[in-house]
Amino acid sequence: MSNHTISMTDLLYEYLLDNSLREPDLLRALREETAGMPYGGMQIAPDQGQFMGFLVELTGARRALEVGTFTGYSALCVTLAMPPEGRLVACDVSETYTAVARRYWEKAGVADRIDLRLAPALDTLDSLIREGDSGSFDFAFIDADKKNYDGYYERALKLVRPGGLIAVDNVLWHGAVADRAADDEDTEAIRALNAKLKDDSRVTLSLVPIGDGLTLARRRA
Ligand code: CA
Repeated sequence: MSNHTISMTDLLYEYLLDNSLREPDLLRALREETAGMPYGGMQIAPDQGQFMGFLVELTGARRALEVGTFTGYSALCVTLAMPPEGRLVACDVSETYTAVARRYWEKAGVADRIDLRLAPALDTLDSLIREGDSGSFDFAFIDADKKNYDGYYERALKLVRPGGLIAVDNVLWHGAVADRAADDEDTEAIRALNAKLKDDSRVTLSLVPIGDGLTLARRRA
């Protein structure tokens, strides 16, 4: 027994998936298709997708925001976990990857509930703020280019309502955040946001070691 988070071996992870993953066939097909694509490793882990769906269901979210959609796995997990009136605004810059996403959203019957904005996400978030959408989102997932993480976080914090939840992906960055030798721009950007969030009194905080590390920040008043 230990008071420290368990080390996840491949064998134990397989057990975890065998005993808890309830991935619908369509999500599995999307995950498998994505795994064969360039940068397929950017897709979130299936247990993380299920966890995010769980959070969305738990919080009763009806309006969600995603920064970094890729081939649409997390968007589908989130949208399927919302009630039928739930809507997601999804931000990405890749026509190629989001074409895969759209195909699966159609198959799942949720394409009309996902508003895909193909533009630099900072611009999309700024236009949502300008259009008066501040404080209107229940849930936001940040999983795009790391150097803009702080910009995405600050905008998401405006866009979610008090009590709304922001989830930030890759905060453990395959361990590089704790490696003193790692000083590339992405690692430094993630480290800077992690350090800032630790003392950010605007949110209630938990860093969950699922997938590549998922920070949960709930907006206070
Ligand atoms: Ca990610």
